[in-house]
Amino acid sequence: MTIAVLALQGAFAEHEAMLERLGAAYFEIRQLRDLAQPFDGLILPGGESTVMGKLLRDLELFGPLQGKIASGLPVFGTCAGLILLAKSVIGGEPCFGTMDICVRRNAYGRQLGSFYAEGECAGIGRIPMTFIRAPYIEAVSGDAEILAEADGKIVAARQGSQLVTAFHPELNDSLEMHRYFLKICS
Ligand code: GLN
Repeated sequence: MTIAVLALQGAFAEHEAMLERLGAAYFEIRQLRDLAQPFDGLILPGGESTVMGKLLRDLELFGPLQGKIASGLPVFGTCAGLILLAKSVIGGEPCFGTMDICVRRNAYGRQLGSFYAEGECAGIGRIPMTFIRAPYIEAVSGDAEILAEADGKIVAARQGSQLVTAFHPELNDSLEMHRYFLKICS
């Protein structure tokens, strides 16, 4: 099993470190020709969703990746990666728009730009949650299911093989969220 990590911008190296610790093979997607090799899952890291969205289009990665995700390629979006997958974005533009969630960008305001919490995630258990200028999910619809809430806000969800977290599981020690994603991929 091989995981592709979108490595245009943001916190991709931290995801790679998690995959390494779990013994999963991975490679980086930086340009169109990287899509020539087969992969079983895709990680969309945190960073700046507007910048990633622009780079995806400029590098002509947008169409092929959207097609793969829409046809069922397992995908794990964290923070900005979550925003890229949302069908509806408050305070921004949808990008791939493959997941039936409505997300609010920079939802916690300036006072609470970054914070740490712990919470229960369905199917996983209690996990650490690091939020950095994070979005939260206002609502899920269709087949999308809520996996976790923190402070009354939806912060993790799943729809089929699409998994998203508003927080950054790659910045804490727990491997559980990544392990959960690898199960979806296998
Ligand atoms: N605020 C960023 C955005 O809107 C997301 C922050 C992050 O990925 N840590 O894209």
